[in-house]
Amino acid sequence: MILPLASGVIAPVAPGDRPAFWAVTGRLGGHSRGEFAHANLAQHVGDDPDTVVRNLEELAGLVQIQGRELALMQPIHGNGIGRVTHAGMVHGVDSLVSEKCDLGLVAMGADCVPLVLYGSRGVEKPIISAVHCGWKGLVAGVVTATIAELRLRGVNEIQSIVGPAICGSCYSVSPDRRELVRTSTPADVSQAALGVAGGIDVRAGVLAQLARESVSSSVIGGCTFENPETLFSYRKNRKTGRQGIIIAMRENQERS
Ligand SMILES: [Zn+2]
Repeated sequence: MILPLASGVIAPVAPGDRPAFWAVTGRLGGHSRGEFAHANLAQHVGDDPDTVVRNLEELAGLVQIQGRELALMQPIHGNGIGRVTHAGMVHGVDSLVSEKCDLGLVAMGADCVPLVLYGSRGVEKPIISAVHCGWKGLVAGVVTATIAELRLRGVNEIQSIVGPAICGSCYSVSPDRRELVRTSTPADVSQAALGVAGGIDVRAGVLAQLARESVSSSVIGGCTFENPETLFSYRKNRKTGRQGIIIAMRENQERS
């Protein structure tokens, strides 16, 4: 079985809320071998396809849904949002948004930041989201675009869970790239992301974006580069797997 780094449930607070289960994974558990050992979730990295399917089924099990009821994405480091109503792969987006119950939304990464959001709407059903954000996503504003989408659809309170990512000390970049982050994000976001000389701490930038939108956040997992036993890091290994984060909303038991 895939062993999550952490998992939990967002409990209903408002009348329309549904509970949402979430889990954050690393390398542990799962069935992949070699450079993909053990809990690789991505099909595009060269792992055995049947093994990845098995890992994904176990990922679904972590949030108590059926193995095939997963919405996945093939991100392009942009700010596009996929509005999903059923399982399957969504190409060319870095964010998935849904109000469907019993559907798992998945974001993956191996240095980039995977995160999920839960937006409460009071008497209406909540909306959930999974987002993939690297430095380009920070610049493109995929997290803020997702928050804006949730607010457009009536969400008034948002919680987030943010998964493991490479830290600023381990992610040294060109001055040009730092300059792009500095000029394209608000001062508090760029200050957080560029706090380490020569590097970008994307997760710190994402957390600053969440904070300035009054979104509460829980952070799970450390630096991907520094923890090769438990986390996949693309910068460290190039040929490697992907960890992930999943969220799935459930109907209230008394309603089903
Ligand atoms: Zn690090």
